[in-house]
Amino acid sequence: MFLMDSLIRRCAHSIPPEVEVVARDEGIDAATMSRAIAQGWVVIPANPKRQHRLCAIGEGCRVKVNVNIGTSGARCDPDLECTKGKAALENGADTLMDLSTGGDLAAIRKKILTFDSPIGTVPVYEAVRRAGNAADVDADLLFRVIREHCEQGVDFLTLHCGVNRESLAALKADPRLMGVVSRGGVFHCAMMVKRDEENPLFSEYDYLLDILSEYSVTISLGDGMRPGCIQDSERLAKSVEYITLGKLAKRALSSGVQRMIEGPGHMPLNHIGYNIRMIKEITDRAPLYLLGPLVTDIAPGYDHIVSAIGGAVACMNGADFLCMVSPSEHLALPLVEDIVEGTRVAKIAAHIGDLTKKERGYQTPHEIQMAEARKRLDWDTQFQLALFGDVAKKIHERDGERETCSMCGDLCAVKMIQEILEKINKK
Ligand code: SF4
Repeated sequence: MFLMDSLIRRCAHSIPPEVEVVARDEGIDAATMSRAIAQGWVVIPANPKRQHRLCAIGEGCRVKVNVNIGTSGARCDPDLECTKGKAALENGADTLMDLSTGGDLAAIRKKILTFDSPIGTVPVYEAVRRAGNAADVDADLLFRVIREHCEQGVDFLTLHCGVNRESLAALKADPRLMGVVSRGGVFHCAMMVKRDEENPLFSEYDYLLDILSEYSVTISLGDGMRPGCIQDSERLAKSVEYITLGKLAKRALSSGVQRMIEGPGHMPLNHIGYNIRMIKEITDRAPLYLLGPLVTDIAPGYDHIVSAIGGAVACMNGADFLCMVSPSEHLALPLVEDIVEGTRVAKIAAHIGDLTKKERGYQTPHEIQMAEARKRLDWDTQFQLALFGDVAKKIHERDGERETCSMCGDLCAVKMIQEILEKINKK
């Protein structure tokens, strides 16, 4: 097992073996990746207490996809959540997050931690369950739960350190239609208001970093003030939180703790570019992890598509990590088929984002080979090259096997132009 202690510091003067592994996987020079980790531009979430497939997230790496699974108080079936986790990984998820809030949370997490992938959690959910309600969570309980998650082998933790008095004041000064929609964000607001105290994750941030450093766990600085509808995109609270997260990201890096930033939830498509570039700038290019952004609020049932449109544009502007949104978003806890569909759509968004990240990146052999196979009407090769060839094959073959497809039949433009070009070229 690799030793993950102070990966940032080790990368500053060497190329650790785990970096060699992920660099090979990404097709990046290992020395370049090591420098990027030392600068905080790339993270490898990996708690040394657990061995699993490693995955790099950040600049120069392929865009990664996370899938959230987990029970709720309304539906608690741990085996079903494990089936969802398996389905997500089989369909291309790079990481999983256990967001369970119902049942024996430690036991469910233990099961989910057997998956061969980086696993993230949101410890405040468990703290709220133990306290009975959000307002009764105190600093001791919260830090105890964080330590337990680290001890159990969780690789990255979403911690809403930026939901502080300042961002709460901004919310009051510049009210939003949806208020706060982040579950973790609301829990911290409840704690702060009840106790009239600062969020302990903010006021005792150095202590928090000590715990994460001890366990080599990556911090995902949560966006508790993310907008919950596109009408809230330009309100103050989220920007105040970003600025705080930028400062906290710098402190994490100097403490040797790998950090990611979580980004905006709902916003119009034309706001995405400058938001992403601004977050990257004020966080010193920390890896950026997004749920969405959802670019309209009136398509429930299709929010996976809405999110993929926003996600692709976000990746084009520098986002590194997409959280899967399922067709059940805003409606219900997802089923296995929702997870499959959402994961596939998120993978497509990530791939489209990757194609925009390098100059002429769209000219990858894979894309070129697909165009060539289409030109030849070579269906088998198309299915092999397709991201999800099983679906493509099923659709193509529903009208029977044929040389062209049933869309134009004997009036196939692809076939006709080949014949025309052959004649022209013979002249
Ligand atoms: S039949 Fe029409 S849709 Fe199908 S391959 Fe030919 S041109 Fe394309």
